[in-house]
Parts: sequence; C-alpha cells; structure tokens
Amino acid sequence: MDGKVDHKWQALARLPPTDQVTCLHGLVKIHPAQLNHTFEWTVHSKEPLYETCPQPRTCQRALLDIRAKLSLMDIVGLETWGSGYIYQHFKELQKLCKGCSRVAENRFKKGRETFWELLPSCFGLPTWEELEKEAGSS
Ligand SMILES: [Zn+2]
Repeated sequence: MDGKVDHKWQALARLPPTDQVTCLHGLVKIHPAQLNHTFEWTVHSKEPLYETCPQPRTCQRALLDIRAKLSLMDIVGLETWGSGYIYQHFKELQKLCKGCSRVAENRFKKGRETFWELLPSCFGLPTWEELEKEAGSS
C-alpha cells in the first residue's frame, strides 16, 4: 500500500457513517465494473485481440498478467491511455504485438466511456444526465 491508499481511507473515515457505507458499496462495485468495461479486453479468450497476431501466446500471456495485476490495484478504470499511466503501470503492454496493442487501446477507450457512464450507479445515484439536470435546477 502506498501513501495514496492511506489518504483515501483517511478521507473515508472523515465522512458521516451513512456516506461511508455508500462509498464502500461503491468501491465493491467499481472493481468488477472496471474489469468488465475499461479492461474487458484482458478477459481470457482463445482468440488473440488482433486477428492475425504474429505471437498469440505471448500476447495472451501479457493479457493474463495485466488482469492478475488489476485485481490487486486501486481504481484505475478512469485513467487515460494517452497519459502514460497505463503503460507505466502495466509494463506487460510492451509485450503485445502492434496489432493487439492497437485493439487493446481502442477497446480500453470504449470501455472507459462505458465505465464512466455507469459510475454514478455504483453509488446508487441516478445517471450523469439526471445529476446534471438536478445540479442545474438548484
Ligand atoms: Zn498480438
């Protein structure tokens, strides 16, 4: 655990108890949501990401390693591919062939958008659209 994680739990501890419960419920839902959306391309499959992948075993091994690492990580489902964060934290990506890497990036971006859309629901909140309406009307 790094300082960032400690900080998160300290912040949580300062919330009123009912909000703590909401946050913890959200955290429980966020982990599978980031796996199922932002990182859905790491799900094990017989087929490589890129149809004519020249090194399917190496690429699939890299995906398995990324998925294993994700289960131990904090919330990373909203990080951006272009920020370098993903490459920095998942060195296994360097093992992917060019084709698989391109497919991974595209699916990451699509999945990240879906993850963002369902984020409020993880906390029992209405959609972003409804939240924006609420914010605008008050
Ligand atoms: Zn490949």
